[in-house]
Amino acid sequence: MKHKYSSISSVEIIADPMPCMTQLIQDKIEQFESRDCEDAFCVCDVGDVVNKFKAWKELLPRVEPFYACKCNTDEVVVKTLADLGAGFDCASKGEISQILKHGVPTERIIYANPCKQKSFIKYAAKHNVDMMTFDNEAELVKVKELYPTAKMVLRILPVSDVKVQCNLGVKFGCHPNNVAKLLKKAKELDVDVMGVSFHCGSGVQEARAFSLAVSQAHDAWQIAVKLGFNMTMLDIGGGFPGQKSAPISFTEIVSILNDALDTYFPAEMGIRIIAEPGRYFVASAYTLAVNIIAKRTVARDISDADGCNQQGVTKNDEPSHMYYVNDGVYGSFNCIMYDHAHAEAHVFSDSPLRFTSSVWGPTCDGLDCIIQECRLPEMEVGQWMYFPDMGAYTIAAGSTFNGMPRPTIHYICSQEIWDEIYPDHCTAKRRCESMSSDADFPSIMATGPDVRSLREAASSISCIE
Ligand code: PLP
Repeated sequence: MKHKYSSISSVEIIADPMPCMTQLIQDKIEQFESRDCEDAFCVCDVGDVVNKFKAWKELLPRVEPFYACKCNTDEVVVKTLADLGAGFDCASKGEISQILKHGVPTERIIYANPCKQKSFIKYAAKHNVDMMTFDNEAELVKVKELYPTAKMVLRILPVSDVKVQCNLGVKFGCHPNNVAKLLKKAKELDVDVMGVSFHCGSGVQEARAFSLAVSQAHDAWQIAVKLGFNMTMLDIGGGFPGQKSAPISFTEIVSILNDALDTYFPAEMGIRIIAEPGRYFVASAYTLAVNIIAKRTVARDISDADGCNQQGVTKNDEPSHMYYVNDGVYGSFNCIMYDHAHAEAHVFSDSPLRFTSSVWGPTCDGLDCIIQECRLPEMEVGQWMYFPDMGAYTIAAGSTFNGMPRPTIHYICSQEIWDEIYPDHCTAKRRCESMSSDADFPSIMATGPDVRSLREAASSISCIE
């Protein structure tokens, strides 16, 4: 395979047809091994993020996506979405400042944290980030004092029995029974309420969660209109799936959601509808590769109740392997604890034999377990495992506990998509063709300060002819 890449952009441009991710990971591993490098790394497919944006525009044309950057604050992702015209959902001064640095206009930023620190509200006021959510009286009092011209969006608690991966309703949202009281308080304080928002929960598992929430938002909207507020915006929050294996697909959600929007908030109303998707944009774009740094083979517990396997061999006759890898629950796999995620290990092996295995992170903590039990071919120290769908709520909250480094991130993009996003620039292709394929592979630490923006990168790529 011929790699084409721009050393300037830090994004490797790959000639079409782009190989599958398994092949790409294998290639990176070869590059790593040739340099005696065993560190964990991620491959981020920028084109995957772009394709998600395109699918959103096509399937939910009435809804502007405001990327919930808490999900993954990677500068390359943020810059890509900013360049594509996405809006952003920020939850703090730090996030607002990151997004403003990319030149995103304030009409494309919502401060969507219903419980804000006072100094952060002042920061938002200073930078004219005036759309913000609230769900309680104390917030209205703070905003009245610190940012009286803010445009407030009431976050309601969508009441439903639908299962979600992470229930946000335990912490946020004004119960439908309290909506009138809270809006009356806003009137009394002369705070400008201009919208209603909800969040069905992260990782929604049934599409009807959205239609129920839209109808409840409509009820709250009606109350606000009756109280004399000039209502102009509906915010349908996040919760959209980001990976193929999700229990419900984006397509299934949008067919129900579009109907609900057309019923309760028809286009003739002329209102602005936004959403705050997080995992939707990034989950599938990242694949994490980890190295097996240690291994232990153990006898299974003799008292294991379920006895024999299909061949009539007791499980106790099989070896069971514990693999220790160089990223764990204190790092990228924090999603197991915080996001209720389940990791699925993939390995490069032709062996048909499978053994009971467990996969552990690199720290000295017994809690640092990635997979308690799975079936894997026998692996050796120095070999690699990889985990797809690692872009959401992973590197954003990963720590360096025990001195364990975060994975480096390697950005790739197919030639076709790169040219599509940056058509006005002299293409990376010509530049890349002149470069040898074994040049140093660019890498960026997940939270490193020196990440160059795609636009800067693209504009600095010069024709060499
Ligand atoms: N908006 C708010 C206010 C959130 O708290 C979250 C996630 O916690 C999101 C959006 C993004 O949710 P998701 O990643 O499920 O789309």
